Amino acid sequence: MIKHSKYGPSRLSRIIACPGSVELVENLMITSTIQEPKPSKDAAHGTILHDITKKFYSDNPENPNIKELDKVELNDQALIQDATEYADLILKSLGHTNYFTASESSIDLTSWGLPDVWGMLDFMINDYAKRHVHIIDWKFGAGITVYAKENPQLLAYAAGAIKWPTTVQEITLHIVQPAIEHYDTWELSIHDLYDWVHGTLAVAINKCHNDGIDKFNPGIEQCRWCEAKNFCEARTTFVQEAAVKFFEAKEKLATCSTMEDLVKLLEIAPLVEDTIKSIRHYLQIELEKGNIVPGMKLIRGRANRAWISENDTITWLAKNTSIEELFTSKLRSPSQFEKEVRTLKKSEGFKALYETPEGKISMVSESDSRPVIQINSGAINVFADISD
Ligand code: SF4
Repeated sequence: MIKHSKYGPSRLSRIIACPGSVELVENLMITSTIQEPKPSKDAAHGTILHDITKKFYSDNPENPNIKELDKVELNDQALIQDATEYADLILKSLGHTNYFTASESSIDLTSWGLPDVWGMLDFMINDYAKRHVHIIDWKFGAGITVYAKENPQLLAYAAGAIKWPTTVQEITLHIVQPAIEHYDTWELSIHDLYDWVHGTLAVAINKCHNDGIDKFNPGIEQCRWCEAKNFCEARTTFVQEAAVKFFEAKEKLATCSTMEDLVKLLEIAPLVEDTIKSIRHYLQIELEKGNIVPGMKLIRGRANRAWISENDTITWLAKNTSIEELFTSKLRSPSQFEKEVRTLKKSEGFKALYETPEGKISMVSESDSRPVIQINSGAINVFADISD
């Protein structure tokens, strides 16, 4: 089994935000208080798709091994093809063949003075002619939208793939998330990468094992995936303080608190919600183990009825009712058709048949990478119906 790096690229955003988490996680593992998390169903599925992508395309982009695709379902075949078509587009855009590609390569930051940072890079293209490196991360999940800008995981892959010193001048980081048709890029210079490695990453790693009060830094993103979150004093204190503020907020609302106060409260809400979820999960597991949790019990939720045997059902309905249409049929969605017939994606006639409605408006933090929408102040009047 491959041992994971404690400074693995996928953990770096948490480590940079909260260097104290490294030692805490390590100590909790040594005492067996927590275990290395088992990969979720989605993560295991992602690993299979990465493996097939490598065998299908990455090992030989000019001559993909079509047979590999037969090992997965149609939906997954489409995801892999979308991902690899994206890499093809980059290769074609180079306009020459003086390049090198590598896939599923082990990278480490030894040449940058950080040998403990290592991991596995999905795909890279080194354009020798333009001294430009493309770092591609396949994300096959649909749950969370991932962005390329200042993404520590991709920055570490870039540093590991390029090695220092280098003649490379420019780098493009690519997030390829075909399940939600999300393709994001961010360009930076080699100087930007150098500054990030020495000014951000090295500083955070240095803090990890130094004593210092500022090495724990609770926050929404870093605490969400932290293995130590249920045993972390800093997080508990932060959540307790946040909870107090929430109780106070009711009073503040009555006396019209400022917008800034309300935004601050909203920003910490996920941490409080996550803590409540953790407590609920912990107590449910205790009940499922057969332990008593005073005041709580397990129940079954409402489930939808399902046919025991479709054949028996059809026979019975035909004999006992006059219903003729036993099946309902619905036109498949544009993306379902595209998965079945790949060429439809590029067909102008097909594209003219559908439209993409505007997404539902929602409010997020200013730091969110999605582009802001412009609202005509007269366009939305939530009280219009009422006043009419
Ligand atoms: S739970 Fe949050 S504050 Fe605590 S170690 Fe993990 S990331 Fe840091």
